[in-house]
Amino acid sequence: MFLRKRALARIANEKVLYQRHRGGDISVCVAYPNVYRLGMANLGFQAVYHIFESTRRVDADRAFIPDPDERAAIRAGSAQLVSFERGRPLTDFEIIAFSISFETDYLNVLTMLRMAGIPLRRCDRAGRNYPLIIAGGSAVFLNPEPIADFIDLFLIGEGEEMVPEFLAAYERERSRTGFPASVSSVQSRLEALTQVGGAYLPDYFQPEVNESGQIRTVTYSGPGEARVKRRMIHDLDRFTTASLILTEESVFGDMYLVEASRGCQWGCRFCAAGFMYRPIRYRSPQKLISEATRGLSERKVIGLVGAEMASVPGVADIAAAVADGGGRLSPSSLKADCISPQLAAALRRNGNRSVTVAPEAGSERMRKVINKNLSEPQILEATSMLAGEGIENLKLYFMVGLPEEHDEDVLEIARLTGRIIERARAQKNSIGRVTVSLNPFVPKPWTPFQWDPMEAPQSIKRKVAMLRAELGRLGGSMIDLDAESPRDAYFQTLVSRGDRRVGAILERLSAAGYEEAGPIWQELRRIKHDAAGGSTLPDPDFFVTRHYAHDEILPWDFIDHHIHKWFLLSERKKAHYEHQTKPCDVTRCTVCGAC
Ligand code: SF4
Repeated sequence: MFLRKRALARIANEKVLYQRHRGGDISVCVAYPNVYRLGMANLGFQAVYHIFESTRRVDADRAFIPDPDERAAIRAGSAQLVSFERGRPLTDFEIIAFSISFETDYLNVLTMLRMAGIPLRRCDRAGRNYPLIIAGGSAVFLNPEPIADFIDLFLIGEGEEMVPEFLAAYERERSRTGFPASVSSVQSRLEALTQVGGAYLPDYFQPEVNESGQIRTVTYSGPGEARVKRRMIHDLDRFTTASLILTEESVFGDMYLVEASRGCQWGCRFCAAGFMYRPIRYRSPQKLISEATRGLSERKVIGLVGAEMASVPGVADIAAAVADGGGRLSPSSLKADCISPQLAAALRRNGNRSVTVAPEAGSERMRKVINKNLSEPQILEATSMLAGEGIENLKLYFMVGLPEEHDEDVLEIARLTGRIIERARAQKNSIGRVTVSLNPFVPKPWTPFQWDPMEAPQSIKRKVAMLRAELGRLGGSMIDLDAESPRDAYFQTLVSRGDRRVGAILERLSAAGYEEAGPIWQELRRIKHDAAGGSTLPDPDFFVTRHYAHDEILPWDFIDHHIHKWFLLSERKKAHYEHQTKPCDVTRCTVCGAC
């Protein structure tokens, strides 16, 4: 019973900032496939839970993957996975709605279903009285295919309009076919739900592969077009996306979070957020100031969330308003050349001692390859401004293993870091800590680098060691190198670029109880070995370290993100020639198809 005790203690520590509605006849469990402290830090999960909970006929609850000690108890049979608020078995619900922001959490979706006693595969649930399993969130609108065999229906795109439309359609069909539904009415209900824009019924799409393992064709058996249009909201001001339930235990427990924008105007070629959310949309400064001011009555730190925060219109005014209110604005990431003297001063006034800047690549050449539109003089100018305003600690984001990268480009990360430190010292005499945060490049669907492989983990390891040695030569103990494991990146690439066959790999990992990166890697090597010996599971390398052909059908091609594939390919070619593309001008440009 310690699971319930912990959940009840957590509920007692939450502050809900809206009027709750309880007691509808359609029970929905909104599931976040990771632990409570991460789920409650996720604005998308909070927003979708709020939509379900605010719907008159819905009785909503939440579920998270249990903490590691709780999972051990569930496996040992001394506890079971139940919903967070009411402690109900998940099989009691009419609908389980997964909100999935990160593709690495796909494995946890399977683990949660398993712990709930629900058969993983859709075909094993058919005709039996299990909840309808639906899924949405940014991971599934990039590529839902690795979990397509486990989910009844996906909602592809932004949820603010789509989820209420789904619920209205569900209510209509439920009234028409009755509840509980018969086997045939479940199917007709599902088919009716595909009328909702953005709904994706995986049963309608059957991919077939050729002898090389590439997708040869996708047979579509549904009505209308074999494309699923990604939903989006045109005017963000119509909706508030901000903290709705506060808890100290969340990873951002000291912050009130406000979403400032969706998408990004800069078009960095590796970045999924810059393409999947096109076109860039901002909330108005008035709306953001009003949300931030409201947040100040709850928390002293306002977290401004979005892909790039220095370009948000009026960001210096928002920082000033937060400072006037006695708080501190914490922007998620700043593009160096967009940091104005006013913004640097406002951040200083806010009491910020640390700022994150993302050069992403060390050399000018690589920043052109990735279309960063950012020069070294601009990075150093931003350093001067921030150090001059008294910012002490810098976090610098870089990537390693990018397409077209040479060893010399990796060494340039250390040299640029050295020049940043010199510039900061010239301005301020002393500098606090500099953290070099290094992430292996993970190719993402819907980006110009979607066809590129991830560099082999061994090669990434060698580059990281080389960089560590070069940073060591800079001297001083003020530099920390924080490098993400290439093995974790390998798994992330597998679930980012995989097709439905990856579902069987996830199933094997979940059945064996794998959750942590290290053991997963060993099991993936075993799967690779078995694949070479003729096992039915695919070789994970096929999805991770293989160049996808430019004319190949990609697993996610059936989604319509309003972006021309030829545009992504032309961006890939420009990367090869180190040509940059200007940032988006949504007032006149129509080139990629999103505007
Ligand atoms: S059409 Fe032009 S402005 Fe609009 S998202 Fe595409 S590149 Fe950016």
